[in-house]
Amino acid sequence: MARVLIVGAGLTGSLCAALLKKETARPLHLVVWDKAGDSGGRMTTANSPHNPQSTVDLGAQYITRTPHYAKKHQSFYDELLVHGILKPLTSPIEGMVMKEGDCNFVAPQGVSSIIKHYLKESGGNRYIKIYILLVLFLWKILTHTPL
Ligand SMILES: Cc1cc2nc3c(=O)[nH]c(=O)nc-3n(C[C@H](O)[C@H](O)[C@H](O)COP(=O)(O)OP(=O)(O)OC[C@H]3O[C@@H](n4cnc5c(N)ncnc54)[C@H](O)[C@@H]3O)c2cc1C
Repeated sequence: MARVLIVGAGLTGSLCAALLKKETARPLHLVVWDKAGDSGGRMTTANSPHNPQSTVDLGAQYITRTPHYAKKHQSFYDELLVHGILKPLTSPIEGMVMKEGDCNFVAPQGVSSIIKHYLKESGGNRYIKIYILLVLFLWKILTHTPL
């Protein structure tokens, strides 16, 4: 069985994990490590300690689909729309500069739901929360608890 380690559970790492799982015919042992203690990276969503229903996106707050990527990445947008993870942004945002053909999307359950979707799609493999430090050219693993 092929063993793959992806370091970083942001959009890049989670999507890589999902695509590897989808495109690889043979059995794959896939693990994603992240130093942050949770997945999301710059697409992290925080919950209010007083009301878990109340969330805030700490990094990206909406996704802009340009005409170029509308063609190139249409299947990704379709998948996220079908699952209700993305919805078209219909409200105006003060100061937003819209170019012709651009379309904006929001994630009603928080932008980290995109990351969680891709991690789930990657097959429910074991994800490990790990903090790696480069000390004197040695990678040192400090913690390792399941995400
Ligand atoms: C304030 C803000 C607003 C934004 N707004 C938008 C927007 O409106 N629309 C949009 O499309 N994009 C927006 N972006 C950009 C978007 O968030 C990023 O392009 C995208 O999230 C990057 O994903 P990534 O996986 O490449 O990197 P990251 O999200 O940075 O993920 C990298 C992950 O790797 C982990 N990591 C790094 N080093 C190590 C290590 N040594 N060991 C273990 N783990 C490690 C990090 O903890 C992190 O979780 C915004 C970004 C910010 C900060």
